[in-house]
Amino acid sequence: MSTHETERLAAELLHHFGRGLQPGESVVPSIVPTAVFHLPGDPSDVANQYGRYNNPTWEALEAALRLLEDAETVVFPSGMAAIAALLFTIVAAGDRVLLPSDGYYTTRVLGEKYLKPLGVVIETRPTATFLDGGFEGYRLVLIETPSNPGLDVCDIAAAAGLAKRAGALLAVDNTTMTPLGQRPLELGADIVVSADTKAINGHSDALMGHVASRNGEVMVRVRDWRRYGGAIPSPFEAWLVYRGLETLEVRFARMCATAAIVAERLAGHERVAAVRYPGLAGDPSHAIARQQMTAFGSMITLTLRDGAMAESFIGACAYIQPSTSFGGVRTCAERRARWGDSVPDGFVRLSIGLEPAEVLWASMDEALRRAG
Ligand SMILES: *Cc1c(COP(=O)(O)O)cnc(C)c1O
Repeated sequence: MSTHETERLAAELLHHFGRGLQPGESVVPSIVPTAVFHLPGDPSDVANQYGRYNNPTWEALEAALRLLEDAETVVFPSGMAAIAALLFTIVAAGDRVLLPSDGYYTTRVLGEKYLKPLGVVIETRPTATFLDGGFEGYRLVLIETPSNPGLDVCDIAAAAGLAKRAGALLAVDNTTMTPLGQRPLELGADIVVSADTKAINGHSDALMGHVASRNGEVMVRVRDWRRYGGAIPSPFEAWLVYRGLETLEVRFARMCATAAIVAERLAGHERVAAVRYPGLAGDPSHAIARQQMTAFGSMITLTLRDGAMAESFIGACAYIQPSTSFGGVRTCAERRARWGDSVPDGFVRLSIGLEPAEVLWASMDEALRRAG
């Protein structure tokens, strides 16, 4: 999809809700906090039946995400609830599932802890060499590109080709890029999952997730899972995420532009041992990133001398909020080794926020010079 097409979607996002309105109706969706709806007589031809089946506020968010994904979309109360819906509706006893060994850690825990005892075989591969060996014999293959936290990438179109040949379903965790930065379904993936807690909401004040697919059978199962499993979003959070989503395009563009500047300067900084950012011309991810991403993202990783120096850098920088997560309005950072990721002690994941670039950079440069 061209940049022009992505921009058309961003414009459409701001106006689609306003198109079917009656005179006097609100131009933004309402928060509808209700468990029950007025339901006399035959319920089958009534849109709103019960609060676990549907809610007008989630539906407004789903309509907005459906527009961006250009695919049927079901929202969940967190990214993990969306990933759980994917895993538990597609996989059955005896199936093999392939996950990234360097992707979002909790997805592997979910597989190991709950699917393995049900007779599902969970296997993993590193993102950088994920396609090696093909996908023969797998029911579901999940990729995360760029991977979190290492920022390696894998070729989505090539993965989709291999999955098709092997009869596997290919799912992509598109959290780091959002539908405006990377469009896995257009590249041939079957399913997208996303933690909307991150850039899509963008304000670090709500959790949310979604599953999107053009495969009707998959979406019926995913929708039923929410209805029967009961993992439903709150209308209040759905409204917050809807509101956050309206500014995604401008936030993400700013974050990516600042990340490009900061990555370049970090890479040339005498106190920084290593930098990864898919937008750097010399980065191992660069060639594939150029081919399949419409932006290079808002995450950078840097390696400092050791853990103490990394903590000192994070603590000393006036415009870095020490916290986990990414994609929010505030620049934040953390040492990933504290969670047990297999990275050096001095490895820092940096999520660039909306601070003006030069102010942010000056604070980082100073913190790097002061870090002990
Ligand atoms: C955060 C994240 C998740 C999980 O999202 P939650 O909303 O915290 O449940 C899944 N995948 C990736 C890549 C993430 O970054």
